[in-house]
Formats: sequence, C-alpha cells, structure tokens
Amino acid sequence: MYTAKAYSAAGASSPLASSKISRRDPAERDVQIEILFCGICHSDLHSVRNEWSEFMPTAYPIVPGHEIVGRVTKVGSDVTKFKPGDLAAIGCMVDSDGTCPNCHAGLEQFCPNMILTFNSPDRHLGGVTYGGYSESIVVDEHFALSVPANLPLAGAAPLLCAGITTYSPMRHWRVGPGKKVGVVGLGGLGHMAVKFAHALGAHVVVFTTSPGKKDDACRLGADEVVVSRNIDEMKKHTSSFDFILDAVSADHDVSAYISLLGLDGNLTLVGAPPKPLPVAAFGLIMGRRSLSGSAIGGIPETQEMLDFCGEHNITADVEVIPIQKVNEAYSRLLKSDVKYRFSIDMASLKSE
Ligand SMILES: [Zn+2]
Ligand SMILES: [Zn+2]
Repeated sequence: MYTAKAYSAAGASSPLASSKISRRDPAERDVQIEILFCGICHSDLHSVRNEWSEFMPTAYPIVPGHEIVGRVTKVGSDVTKFKPGDLAAIGCMVDSDGTCPNCHAGLEQFCPNMILTFNSPDRHLGGVTYGGYSESIVVDEHFALSVPANLPLAGAAPLLCAGITTYSPMRHWRVGPGKKVGVVGLGGLGHMAVKFAHALGAHVVVFTTSPGKKDDACRLGADEVVVSRNIDEMKKHTSSFDFILDAVSADHDVSAYISLLGLDGNLTLVGAPPKPLPVAAFGLIMGRRSLSGSAIGGIPETQEMLDFCGEHNITADVEVIPIQKVNEAYSRLLKSDVKYRFSIDMASLKSE
C-alpha cells in the first residue's frame, strides 16, 4: 500500500478538497498509472452530491473521476499489455468477475459483479474504489486501455466515458454511410456523438433548443441543425431517421423524436432524466420503431473506439483546468457553461 494525493469530498454538501488516499501496490496483473488528465463527467457531480442515492448511494470520502489518461509507471510480473512509459487510459470500470456470459462476450459493463472506478466496493483494500482526481491509480491490466500516440491527451480523456457512451450504441445500431442519424442535445455526450456519426459516414442532424449552437454543430460535423422548438422544422423530418441518439438528461418530449424515426428506426437514450419519460405507444407501434438505452461499452469495444479516434483524429473539445478550479467547474457544468468537457490537468495536483 502507498499514499497518493487526491481531491475528495467529505460529504454531499462539501466541496472537493486536497486529501490523501491509499492505493494498493501493483500485484502480478496490475499496472500503476501516473494520471496526466482526468475529464469531468456529469456523473462525478451526481455522485459527489449523492444525487443517485436510491440506486448508488455515495460512500464518503469520495474521489470521483472516470475519464483517465496517463503514463504507466510500474507493471506486475504477469502484465503483457503494458510496459513502464506507455500511455494508458482507464474508463468507468476497474474490475468484473471475468466468468459470467457478459464478461465472456466482452460486455464487462453488464457484468453483475462489475466494479466501477469510484464509489464501488474495493476488493483489494476494503472500503470503496477511488477515481481519477488523483496522482495515480492501480488497476488490473484487463481494464487499462492503450491510447493512440497521435491524440492530444487532454482531449482524449473524455473519450473514456463521453466517447464510448456515444460510440457503442452507434455501432450496435449500425450507424454508417447512407444512414440518417439524429443527435439530441449538444453537450459533453452530444458533441462526441456528432463527431462519431460524421466520421462513420452518416448524414448527421443535430437537434437543439438554442439556435446559437448552429455554427458549432456544423463545425463538429453536423449536416443539418434543427431547432427543436420549431414545430414546422421538426415536421419536415417525420419518419425519416434510421437512428437517433438522445443525450438529454433533463425532462423532454421523447415521443416527438420517436415520431421522426423511419421503419425499424431506433432511439437510444444515453442521458438519464430523473423522472420517467412518457412514451406514446402508437409512436412505437407504427413503423415498428424501438426505444432503448445504452451504457458505456465493454473493454474490447472501448479499445476499438480509441483506435478509431486515433485513425480519425477524434478527441473531445475540452477546457483544461487545474484541479484547484474543480469546484468552480462543477457550478459551471450545472449551467452547461463549457464547450464541451472540462479536462483536469493533474500536474496541478503536485503543488498540493
Ligand atoms: Zn461518465
Ligand atoms: Zn462478469
């Protein structure tokens, strides 16, 4: 065991502050990573403030962060994927049982014994796992990903959650050339969805409530932008989409988007509105449309996504901040005042 610097919150209403945590020494299959950048995901904020207490109560102190990139500093004797000096990334998971059908299928995110990067039971040290707002992390090499060398690291960090969360459903629903794809909500997830759908060769339509986002949406790869409050504009697209990715986490009219799907079209939810969404049954019945959800991606697919980003030079649009500005970043996140993701430069932790 060793001591690592971190930023943690002591309670639901406490700010994140400098602290020390224990990490395990790397065992045979472990890699130790010096964290260089960590993205700020909305779920960091939800967990710090215990807003998901019903299904995932927060254990304090909490060290959030699951969009991690860094450099390998030490490897265990059985490690084959990495050597010291390599770039490596960690996403939302650090462990699973490795034996269930989902693990065998490379869908570790659906393993009943999956361990999240933070606020999950820590099998090695007891207590809970601590995330990426820290100078280092130790994980089983299976859960460490390789980062293409051409990607700028600050923008690569958010690929580990915002990236894979949008890439995975697009692959599942076969987004590609000749497909018409909608993206609802242009935030951390939505802006990645636009980049992926464009790179996969689809015709991309962005739905937004703010006409001011039009230029930015086109810059990110949108072919068309629809202001969703304009009913006439919406109607023009009735029954025409193959796939719509809905990344809105606030209350909204999902049936209005379902009616824009063509035959066998699918709408996948990746945002998580707190209240149930009303769905019109006829909207699904007519056209055999479907409504589904999706959660991150398995380890093989996460590596595939990173390699795809390397080939297409895709990273998130980030605002880099020092860890000392993390509380301010949280308040700005609540106002959607970031284009489009905060990425913490973890070198700033050295002065603590
Ligand atoms: Zn996340
Ligand atoms: Zn499993």
